[in-house]
Amino acid sequence: MADHHGAYCIDRPDFGSLFSALKKRGYSLVGPTVQDGAIVFDEIEAVDDLPEGWTDEQDAGTYRIRKRDDKALFGFNSGPHSWKKFLYPSETKLWSARRTEDGFEIEEGEKTIPQYAFIGVHPCDLRAIEIQDKIFMAPDTADPRYGRKREAAFVIALNCGQASKTCFCTSMGTGPRAESGFDIALTEIMGEGYHYFLAESGSERGHDVLRESGCRSAADIDFESAAKVSRQAVDGQIRAIDTNGIKEMLYRNYENKHWEDVAERCMSCANCTLVCPTCFCSKTEDEMSLDGEIADRWRYWDSCFTLDFSYIHGGTIRQTIRSRYRQWMTHKLAAWYDQFGSSGCVGCGRCIAWCPVGIDITAEVKALRESEGGKKNG
Ligand code: SF4
Ligand code: SF4
Repeated sequence: MADHHGAYCIDRPDFGSLFSALKKRGYSLVGPTVQDGAIVFDEIEAVDDLPEGWTDEQDAGTYRIRKRDDKALFGFNSGPHSWKKFLYPSETKLWSARRTEDGFEIEEGEKTIPQYAFIGVHPCDLRAIEIQDKIFMAPDTADPRYGRKREAAFVIALNCGQASKTCFCTSMGTGPRAESGFDIALTEIMGEGYHYFLAESGSERGHDVLRESGCRSAADIDFESAAKVSRQAVDGQIRAIDTNGIKEMLYRNYENKHWEDVAERCMSCANCTLVCPTCFCSKTEDEMSLDGEIADRWRYWDSCFTLDFSYIHGGTIRQTIRSRYRQWMTHKLAAWYDQFGSSGCVGCGRCIAWCPVGIDITAEVKALRESEGGKKNG
């Protein structure tokens, strides 16, 4: 029998003990919940808050939830929210300036930093968090708020057991099994008469929490069952991106006529950037109280699909939708490698499901490649 040090099994009735161990350590629990016809992330208190027995059906321009035939706690894929909702919120007060007798004083916008435990982070989203770390925790571009929240966060990953029609993590090398970047990784294993979680620790603090959570040690058979769960998620993926030479392919296709074709469909609504777990562009705005005593500086998510985003003195640089979609996709799948050493896309499929006209990044890459005919990789 293999040595499975740090791996345990938690039976479904005991799953709440994991929550208790985290709460005891002062964490605010954040996880998936059903709200407004979608599975979204929010603060949760107990296992009952999870979307037990729910799943989602997704395709280009489509997202619906429906009941499952079983009582899986994590039987769904990516929803409209990503974890940037907590680490890099859509609205952040950066600071306030208050008038004083001899000038003004500055107060930090976020005085307390929450200590989150993220419960059920899909492997693609783990990679998305790692990508945002490279941006917000790099010495030159660091956002101290992000860094403090990130360092305090306890991460429980959830290895996927199914894929939606929009998932393509396998082709991006980001899932459906978490390899690193977590404190605990769960695999939900269920069948006739059994329902439990294989829980693998990825850090010392993860191991401590598991030891305290009423777990039994994992055996070979549990790992074999978990491998079958992951296999289902691989086999269920119907979309893919061929990443071979993709950077060079996009760089040599700035003038491809296919961008016009996309621009006829794209409404430049920015949904794709807002749901994307790696998109990080923002704008800052100042707001002043009417009496002139207080000025607040806010940061809001922005998008390369807005005209203002590329506005410099004298006008907007990317005036056409063609140029804005090209910018988005070429940044994600090409320039990102030069800037951050990896793809900016983790294959979560959110931009496909939440695009109101069903524009599909995997199909657009394929179309560009096909338009090149014989000219291939590199
Ligand atoms: S690709 Fe779709 S989601 Fe993105 S801006 Fe265009 S219409 Fe909106
Ligand atoms: S580009 Fe689309 S599929 Fe890729 S990470 Fe962003 S939302 Fe997910």
